[in-house]
Amino acid sequence: MKNIPLPNTPTLEGNLDKKLLLQVAKEYQTPLFVYDFDKIEEYFNQFKLAFSGRKSLICYALKANSNLSVIKKLASLESGVDCVSLGEIKRAILAGIPTYKIIYSGVGKQDYEIQEAIKLGILFINIESKEELLKVESIAKTLNTKARISIRVNPDIDPQTHPYISTGLKENKFGIGVEEAKSLYLYAHKSESLEPIGIHFHIGSQITKLQPIAESAQKIAQLLHSLLALKIDIKFFDIGGGLGITYKDETTINPYDYAQSILECLRGLDVTIICEPGRFIMGNSGVFLTQVLYEKISQEKRFVIVNGAMNDLIRPSLYNAYHKITPLNPREGELAPTDIVGPICESGDYLGKNIALPPLKAGDILAILSAGAYGFSMSSNYNTRPRCAEVAISQGKARLIRKRETFEDLIALEKDYL
Ligand SMILES: *Cc1c(COP(=O)(O)O)cnc(C)c1O
Repeated sequence: MKNIPLPNTPTLEGNLDKKLLLQVAKEYQTPLFVYDFDKIEEYFNQFKLAFSGRKSLICYALKANSNLSVIKKLASLESGVDCVSLGEIKRAILAGIPTYKIIYSGVGKQDYEIQEAIKLGILFINIESKEELLKVESIAKTLNTKARISIRVNPDIDPQTHPYISTGLKENKFGIGVEEAKSLYLYAHKSESLEPIGIHFHIGSQITKLQPIAESAQKIAQLLHSLLALKIDIKFFDIGGGLGITYKDETTINPYDYAQSILECLRGLDVTIICEPGRFIMGNSGVFLTQVLYEKISQEKRFVIVNGAMNDLIRPSLYNAYHKITPLNPREGELAPTDIVGPICESGDYLGKNIALPPLKAGDILAILSAGAYGFSMSSNYNTRPRCAEVAISQGKARLIRKRETFEDLIALEKDYL
């Protein structure tokens, strides 16, 4: 039966019902991240189901949201993880992800990180350059072991997304060209300290068109064929992440079609598919709640100043990203185009521009939708602002999964100032 999943869109329903969110805002204060743990499960299962016809492993991309309770939830669904630092690997292990389901990616792995990853016995390391391959080989040698590796191949295909989150073009810093990759596989195959078991590509994030992914998969599958012909025993076909979600009105890729296009490339091949979704699972599973502080109306513009800012949710400032914004206690009156801005001393500090909003008063709570991915995980302490608390809601019940930082937390590591 063809599985037609629910679209991945911003909504304030179920666990993210407005009334419930108002209660949560009152209890835990704002600014605040709130995640719907039932949605996380739903989106994860959509992915799992889409690939269920084949041996597959979903490795959630931890960087999208690395809260330990989020990881633990995904561990309970039998997810693996894709990590980009030793810190993320440690988080994953702490939250109950088995080491044989952990992948380690990223262009700038440091010696101590590689050493620890090998010692921990993770599934494999995704190699991003020749120098890194040699580094991993020499570290494995000193550890007297074989390091399992996969090579991130750069298919040189335009994912048609924002340039900052585009990674699969030859001008990007990521991955290795097809020809060089082939020679590195041959090298690794002969090495006593390396065991090439995977092949990997990841062309970017927030991808909404299937074609660039399908084309990349075909290109990488061709390489896989030639490696298998050389008796290099590749067992994992790692298709990365990047599946887009709806923030505004984008039509996106349905996981079923996504899976079908990958399966088509792999006909007759006995490999396990690994996918690394991050945003798809977390993006629309979370909202960011912020409170109105002031309204400022000039002849030119209406500004609403809120207590949340770019240090909490940087996507609008960094990528000019759009997030739906909805007042939780709407007032009667005309909608007017409004810039929602934070207290930070930067003109780029905004959460929304020209959003049609009804009258608002100090104390009103706004929900910034689709904030579950690359929200808290990209947050900072800029302007000495404590990072937000995080709350999980499951079946209508809310619980705190990260305390709000205090001023004392912020200065805890500073010394010699007295
Ligand atoms: C960021 C990243 C992902 C996840 O991307 P999403 O767009 O959140 O799905 C997966 N794999 C790698 C290697 C990444 O860098």
